[in-house]
Amino acid sequence: MTFDELNLAPALLDAVREQGYTQPTPVQAQAIPLVLAGHDLLAGAQTGTGKTAAFTLPLLQRLHAGQAGPEGHAGHEPPKRGQPRPIRALVLTPTRELAAQVEESVRTYGKHLQLKSTVIFGGVGMNPQIDKLARGVDVLVATPGRLLDLVDQGRLDLSKVEILVLDEADRMLDMGFIHDVKKILRLLPQNKQSLLFSATFSDEIRELANGLLRSPKHIQV
Ligand code: AMP
Repeated sequence: MTFDELNLAPALLDAVREQGYTQPTPVQAQAIPLVLAGHDLLAGAQTGTGKTAAFTLPLLQRLHAGQAGPEGHAGHEPPKRGQPRPIRALVLTPTRELAAQVEESVRTYGKHLQLKSTVIFGGVGMNPQIDKLARGVDVLVATPGRLLDLVDQGRLDLSKVEILVLDEADRMLDMGFIHDVKKILRLLPQNKQSLLFSATFSDEIRELANGLLRSPKHIQV
């Protein structure tokens, strides 16, 4: 299997090539076609398997394909003057280190696309994050607690999210984020594509997955 067989846009293939990757890892080979086809996904994958690119590449492609131009995207109202455009993809991670790494990957793989990303996490000042959000963000990578703080302040519109990723969902629950995650899920539209990545599957993860995912495809690497 090569990356060329995965039906990725040339701009994404260029970025992958520039990273020096020659072939997709197993989780990428399995996940990318399913996500591109619009399926919800329940993926069992440890860190180090290439899981970040497995969700980031098709996520970027789907946003890119649905985008009519820099001022808006197909099927959506253009943003009102003075209001930033809403978030289109949300990636939740358990830790700030992982959030920063994932957003770096979004930038790397999306460098030839016109999509904007940013990362928000706790433990640092809110104002720079508020400024970045106000300038308009397509892909937001966030830890749950700080995301909710910014929602409470009215800095974030999650009502138009098209794609949600829960990365390292087991760690997210181990760290006590279940209530925050459930609160965030209630802010998202029903009609969206959801991807859940986890290294392990407890009853709690399965319950979360059952409530969130619609006819998901399952993969395990
Ligand atoms: P992850 O599991 O997403 O944390 O990725 C682990 C490491 O594998 C990262 O350093 C990636 O840059 C690298 N990587 C991801 N996909 C590939 C690939 N197809 N070929 C070679 N390295 C890769």
